[in-house]
Amino acid sequence: MLCLLLRVLCTLVFHILRCLLAIHMGKYLLHRALQSSHSLKIIHFLVKTQPSTIRRSGDRVLWDIVLHHGQLRAPSQPKTTLPKITLDPWLQQAARLMQILHPVLESKTFSFSRPAQRHPRFHQGVFQQGHSLLQTRQPNLRPRRHSLQNAYCRKPLTAPLPPAVLLLCPTALMLWKVGAIQVTRWTRFLSTSSPAPALSVPQAAKPAKPFGYGYPILQPGYQNVGLSSGVQTSNPAYSGFQQFAQQYPGMNQLSSSLSGLSLQHSSQQPESLRPVNLTQDRNILPVTPVLAPVPNLSSDLRKLNCNPDSFRCTLTNIPQTQALLNKAKLPLGLLLHPFRDLTQLPVITSSTIVRCRSCRTYINPFVSFIDQRRWKCNLCYRVNDVPEEFMYNPLTRSYGEPHKRPEVQNSTVEFIASSDYMLRPPQPAVYLFVLDVSHNALEAGYLTIVCQSLLENLDKLPGDSRTRIGFITFDSTVHFYNLQEGLSQPQMLIVSDIDDIFLPTPDSLLVNLHESKELIKDLLNALPNMFTYTRETHSALGPALQAAFKLMSPTGGRVSVFQTQLPSLGAGLLQSREDPNQRSSTKVVQHLGPATDFYKKLALDCSGQQTAVDLFLLSSQYSDLASLACMSKYSAGCIYYYPSFHHTHNPSQAEKLQKDLKRYLTRKIGFEAVMRIRCTKGLSIHTFHGNFFVRSTDLLSLANINPDAGFAVQMSIEENLTDTSLVCFQTALLYTSSKGERRIRVHTLCLPVVSSLADVYAGVDVQAAICLLANMAVDRSISSSLSDARDALVNAVVDSLSAYSQTSSTSQQSALIAPTSLKLFPLYVLALLKQKAFRTGTSTRLDDRVFAMCQMKCQPLVHLMKIIHPNLYRIDKLTDEGAIHINDRIVPQPPLQKLSAEKLTREGAFLMDAGSIIYIWIGKSCENNFLKDVLGYPNYASLPQKLTHLPELDTLSSERTRSFLSWLRDNRPLCPVLHVVKDESPAKTDFFQHLVEDRTEAAFSYYEFLLHVQQQICK
Ligand SMILES: [Zn+2]
Repeated sequence: MLCLLLRVLCTLVFHILRCLLAIHMGKYLLHRALQSSHSLKIIHFLVKTQPSTIRRSGDRVLWDIVLHHGQLRAPSQPKTTLPKITLDPWLQQAARLMQILHPVLESKTFSFSRPAQRHPRFHQGVFQQGHSLLQTRQPNLRPRRHSLQNAYCRKPLTAPLPPAVLLLCPTALMLWKVGAIQVTRWTRFLSTSSPAPALSVPQAAKPAKPFGYGYPILQPGYQNVGLSSGVQTSNPAYSGFQQFAQQYPGMNQLSSSLSGLSLQHSSQQPESLRPVNLTQDRNILPVTPVLAPVPNLSSDLRKLNCNPDSFRCTLTNIPQTQALLNKAKLPLGLLLHPFRDLTQLPVITSSTIVRCRSCRTYINPFVSFIDQRRWKCNLCYRVNDVPEEFMYNPLTRSYGEPHKRPEVQNSTVEFIASSDYMLRPPQPAVYLFVLDVSHNALEAGYLTIVCQSLLENLDKLPGDSRTRIGFITFDSTVHFYNLQEGLSQPQMLIVSDIDDIFLPTPDSLLVNLHESKELIKDLLNALPNMFTYTRETHSALGPALQAAFKLMSPTGGRVSVFQTQLPSLGAGLLQSREDPNQRSSTKVVQHLGPATDFYKKLALDCSGQQTAVDLFLLSSQYSDLASLACMSKYSAGCIYYYPSFHHTHNPSQAEKLQKDLKRYLTRKIGFEAVMRIRCTKGLSIHTFHGNFFVRSTDLLSLANINPDAGFAVQMSIEENLTDTSLVCFQTALLYTSSKGERRIRVHTLCLPVVSSLADVYAGVDVQAAICLLANMAVDRSISSSLSDARDALVNAVVDSLSAYSQTSSTSQQSALIAPTSLKLFPLYVLALLKQKAFRTGTSTRLDDRVFAMCQMKCQPLVHLMKIIHPNLYRIDKLTDEGAIHINDRIVPQPPLQKLSAEKLTREGAFLMDAGSIIYIWIGKSCENNFLKDVLGYPNYASLPQKLTHLPELDTLSSERTRSFLSWLRDNRPLCPVLHVVKDESPAKTDFFQHLVEDRTEAAFSYYEFLLHVQQQICK
């Protein structure tokens, strides 16, 4: 016992001694660094070999390095004052130091708690009037989590603040740029073997210029242009630091280890916090489309992280506690596009799929390997064994490197699942088409288009040799088609007992596509003409669906329903609920929910049998989409809607149907799918949005999954995340491919945890937030009322901006201030309020509104954003300036315009990309050259009212326009329809309703909306 105690004591003493020695050794070396001309190398050496020394030796010593480092110190500067350094040589120094440190440090940016906001004098007095911080002695300039400022303030504060300070602090290297008020730190020491780049002898610092004029109001990028003159910044969207870096030849020569990342990203977060005065700044819309913010992770993790197109979070900095989240007044949730088309996807065939034994998380790039044999789950922190098979890497054919396996190198992977993942043998691809053939349907003339599209794409339907197909048509009765191989022609079987529907010949109605292909083709050729003279006006949709359910039950698969009117017979019949006089009401909007639970029940039955029902509603009048949509919502189907459909009177709808069908029939499909979303312990997922059935708390049942389906989930923070700096989210989608393989697609997203409100605001993904809010608002409209939902949307802006303004004491009462990360938030919310889904006071058909709501719930973010806030470009003067090159094609990149009629000059032509529709608006005085060269008409007067194609003309401007247009179209799965809009054409109203910044009779202009928000905040 005593012996043990002694041993412990000895060990302790030994450790203490070693630590002391290390500290002194470290200090000695650090001081050597001050004098040595190779000081950077010494620091590098220290960082690499003795991180603990660096950590322990305190701010002061490290601060000394910065102050008195040979190159950083201004000549003859006394030790007790701060160096005066002009920006140029200083940044070169900083860059060099970072270049050395970058390989050994993982970057992690963290932001200052906006001293400029909390201390008006610091911002205005100190900088604008040229006084130094040190003279005004603002005492509380402390970053929240670090004693950086302490180190700074311990010095006698007599000299002006340098424009930027590079600090080595305990565990961190900091770059502090005063101009933009930002602190960047690189933390976490890693030992890597990458050699330090050779140092050239740094240029001696030039004597400092007088410091202190006006630059705090400038972006750093402008500082070197006019350091001493008060250059006004005019482009707030500029990422200053990045620009800055590019202007330095010295920076370009820096090695690839810097690769623009560290400098670029050091500016990212603080830039996102830069306050924007919304009521003053009229040009908040960036000239290029808004991209997803990059989570603030080390470059290694950033490289591995999930593509934002598949997986996005409304807050890329996760608040540590629910209390902090509540303070920020922002929604927390995920936006998923799990099955989107990918050009590159690692597919893993392995007999063991490595998962956490406790929470079943799939192994992913963010787990940690404790040693070669054990890995720690990043979601529940359980330590798991690495299975023997995992030690072998099939890619490199090497053994003993589990961390190099593709599962650990890719955040999106697909596993081929073993029989453990099957409840039954994988089902074949089964497609059933249920077609309305009533008089109304024949009048609309959709049948020809559907049959023609099917004929054209029959061989492209996803599937294998087992693929099966069947057809049901219905009017007041239900018709089946026997397509059994060997028949000379298809047999039509009519069941008129719609109250008790049955299958006349259950075995021959769903047939093998390949064996019965000729019969199927015969039927598709015959169908459009079979009902030409029908007088049946009734629609027995419900019974037809019941028949479809019975037919599909043994296998599961996809049912595609084409409906053109209100179902009027049998189960599920509906009555008109819309009062056309109420379409532009500003009061209560009724009937947003279903009139009957028939369709929901049917959908749940279908879902239970792995059958999804897709609805194509091609109606000329009210068809109660609110009720019908339930058949798709709960069975994981999709909803297509073509209002006022007519094959000849409405050619653009006909074209849209054709294009949609082509995509619909040929796109990838997954059957009998389930999706589970897991997240780090402490976080909890509670509300799901999309088309599915929630089978258990976190398991979504998806009878079908398609690449165009988007999902959203809301989250809360149940336990504080104080013990972790990272959280992860993982979706696993288990499905049967059309080839009968059971597969699991796994996406893993990793995000940092932050403890300050400023950091939460810095990481807002405003587009993700707006899409989540749109989903929440749809639920609110149905469960409560439309006006409630609208209020909630406005409150989201008011609350978040008001919470933000409370974090800063500078908030001028007269200004509406938002951090850069949220500057588009009010605009997007206003755009949401003007959507068909949520608008009031403007005539909106009930079905149109309900469909817009359905879209909000199931479109992936990238598509939904285009619907909410379309992109507008001027295209009559396209140039190659800034154009991108894709496969020998030059694609012009015109700047984005704000959505306001004030941008539409009559001399111009403008293209608006609204997701599923692209408009080209032609001004009345548009130059004839453009009309002739691009549209092929000599002048405005000769331009037809309806134009849906651009001719292929052999002119430069035609080529540019077509190249731009096809580039826009190529980037999405659903090919949008083109409308060329003349100023007096009827489509003009559609075009103008997208100009969300403008005032309408019933809605605010953007500026009015800002004033309204401001008023609400001041209340
Ligand atoms: Zn786990």
